[in-house]
Amino acid sequence: MRENKQTILIIDDCLEDRETYRRYLLQDSKYSYKIVEEEYGENGLELCSLIKPDVILLDFLLPDIDGLEFLNELKAKGDSSDVPVVMLTGQGNEAIAVQVMKSGASDYLVKGEMTPESLRLAIHNVVEQTRLRKQLAYSEHRFQTSVENLLDCFGIYTSVRDSSGKIIDFLVEYVNAAACAIHGMTKEGQVGKNLLELLPYHHQLFDQYCQVVETGKSLVTEISVDADFFNQKYLPRSLEIQATKLNDGFVASWRDITDRKIAESEISKSLAKEKELNELKSRFISIASHELRNPLTTIMSASELLEYYSQDSHNDQKTSYIHLIRSSVNQMTELLDDVLMLAKSEAGKLLCTPQSFDLFNFCQELIEEMQFNASNHHTINFINDSAELGGLIGSFIVYMDDKLLRHIFINLISNGIKYSPQGSVVDLHLKIEDEFVVFQVKDSGIGIPPEDIIKLFESFHRARNVGNIPGTGLGLVIVKNYVELHGGTIDVESEVGKGTKFLVKLPLR
Ligand code: ADP
Repeated sequence: MRENKQTILIIDDCLEDRETYRRYLLQDSKYSYKIVEEEYGENGLELCSLIKPDVILLDFLLPDIDGLEFLNELKAKGDSSDVPVVMLTGQGNEAIAVQVMKSGASDYLVKGEMTPESLRLAIHNVVEQTRLRKQLAYSEHRFQTSVENLLDCFGIYTSVRDSSGKIIDFLVEYVNAAACAIHGMTKEGQVGKNLLELLPYHHQLFDQYCQVVETGKSLVTEISVDADFFNQKYLPRSLEIQATKLNDGFVASWRDITDRKIAESEISKSLAKEKELNELKSRFISIASHELRNPLTTIMSASELLEYYSQDSHNDQKTSYIHLIRSSVNQMTELLDDVLMLAKSEAGKLLCTPQSFDLFNFCQELIEEMQFNASNHHTINFINDSAELGGLIGSFIVYMDDKLLRHIFINLISNGIKYSPQGSVVDLHLKIEDEFVVFQVKDSGIGIPPEDIIKLFESFHRARNVGNIPGTGLGLVIVKNYVELHGGTIDVESEVGKGTKFLVKLPLR
């Protein structure tokens, strides 16, 4: 079956020749033809614009212009400059044949030697060439349009090898608009240049690119690129890069994923924070329900007993029930105070308000007060390793927030008492070291297991060995906050069953 119709424009001033060509063509079994004839070159050029032929069969010698002039004028015509021309030349005129081929003819035939087959073959070849050229142009256009409009950067690179065949760099063959934008360079500024010289950040990927070329295995990776690697001042960026072998080189596409990376890290940070908050919430609920239920139960039973025995019970029994109620209420108030204090401190609302006072006297009074409260169940010692600094007057003036300091030591010493057996000793050591005052609160109680020490300053965390000893896991968090408000540090050393030592170091100024 014949393929689609080809329009052929025959320009020849010899009627017999034109008829011969027409006859040859109409016998073609491959294509069918629409044939238009013309005697003059200039008319032929005009016809070109009108009929848009697929091929022009052109006699070199025309009455008005010759084949070369025709080719030049055709080239200058915008609308039909790419119509292929098969030139018909005279016998023995090879020089002209060469010239017409150089001037853009697609083929030539020597008039005297032409056979039906040679004419048809020349036309077939030209039609096929044109088809392939159009196809190529179309696919190139398709490639260009797709790649140029990609949001991702895209480039084609060829290996540059040394005399031993080793890859030493890659030549930039093509880059799209996005690649120009990200590098702040024009296409001309990149194409034809060596990649490593042009963009040194590719050094970190060079071995992987070589692997892609040598093994044919594609590469997908992420890199982080310093600001200095880009010609324009850029912030440090994260890039996601994909490379695939192409001939003796590779194609690469890459995109800036900095914003995505930042968002990912923000999300994971907030997830971690949320997890932490959830853990905190459940610890709070379990501590609060326990620490509130116990005193509430006590209040309930003590008040029931008070009611039941209101008529006949002795006064001292009533007093002891009232005491029970009071201490339970105090316990609850303490918990609520601690929670409030913590909330205040986490909201940054706690302030350190320093004033001058005598540190030695402050410690002495605090210990006396605590010893009084502890009655004779525990002994509390104040050991002042820097007493000589007070000289005869026995005072050492510091500029600190005494209320915060009081809270710190009441808490640490109460813990020392709470977590040690009755009859044991709790020491408060004080030492002035250069610009610091170093306190140690030391007991010989139950100690803290190493696994709990690391979590000791987390809200509501209580060590696994506390048993029935009441507590909320909030005291140390607050103490740490207060110490830090003073610009100080707190550390702990402990051994289970042997005792615990808290070290508080506060700057004197
Ligand atoms: P709590 O109200 O539970 O005592 P803290 O925040 O004061 O809360 O202490 C947190 C945890 O640290 C306690 O539950 C306990 O497990 C441990 N701890 C604190 N001080 C001591 C100490 N002197 N001896 C043993 N364990 C202690």
